[in-house]
Amino acid sequence: MKKDKLKIGIYELTGCAGCALLILDCENELVDIFQAADIQSFLMAKSDNIDGELDIALVEGSVSTEKDIEELMDIRKRAEIVVAIGLCSMVGGIQGRFCDEKEWKENFKKVYGDIEMTHTKPVQSKPIDAYIKVDYYLPGCPIGKEQFLNFFTRMLRGNPPERYPQPVCVECKYNENDCLLKKGILCLGPLTSGGCGAICINHNLPCVGCWGPVEGGNWISEYYLLKEKGFDDELIKNKMANFSGTKIAEVSEQLRK
Ligand code: SF4
Ligand code: SF4
Ligand code: SF4
Repeated sequence: MKKDKLKIGIYELTGCAGCALLILDCENELVDIFQAADIQSFLMAKSDNIDGELDIALVEGSVSTEKDIEELMDIRKRAEIVVAIGLCSMVGGIQGRFCDEKEWKENFKKVYGDIEMTHTKPVQSKPIDAYIKVDYYLPGCPIGKEQFLNFFTRMLRGNPPERYPQPVCVECKYNENDCLLKKGILCLGPLTSGGCGAICINHNLPCVGCWGPVEGGNWISEYYLLKEKGFDDELIKNKMANFSGTKIAEVSEQLRK
């Protein structure tokens, strides 16, 4: 894809809006971003939004209401390329971490009771690729600034984005950090998508998994390895669940067997 000015829409489904805010936070680059592309829709940044045909739609947030489903379907119809930005969109986010529909319904009732929802009907939170085909994914909670600018520049030049294929541990080793697991600190680096530069471990803090599950991560082996190292069962499961969205349902199911 190489056009003079790409038509881009940035959309927010259910999330904290942190990924869209991260784009706005590219303060030094923001004017260039708006000049280089035709940003047709970006509610957080402008009021003259248009719902027309798009080259690229960036979608933040999970699908958590019927209104989200309608909006997402409409975006997919209008956009040549759809990019899931952030973990809510990629894996369902924190709100997607319930194991099954029954648990979701019980938890929903605990929070909202029998209140009648008039604006839209809530549904169990899911990543956007549970409903539509997604072309690319930008991980992170929120996405990283450098990652976004790299993605944006590549797309402007007609190149697809490149996803970092290794877990955080690889970048951690490149940076010559001592492994925190050896010091008795629970670190989720082996299960987490790299690309952040292992920034937390560089500052002696463990990875909590905010770039989401790495492709091919062996969650069950990691669970038993952490148990062997003496970490508490609930602590391991809660840490694993924090940023893994709907992935944790699969892991919990396997652990129950
Ligand atoms: S991925 Fe994180 S930062 Fe982005 S919308 Fe979801 S909760 Fe917010
Ligand atoms: S500190 Fe964490 S990220 Fe670094 S090697 Fe150990 S487990 Fe992996
Ligand atoms: S929590 Fe892990 S993935 Fe998130 S920024 Fe820190 S090291 Fe990177």
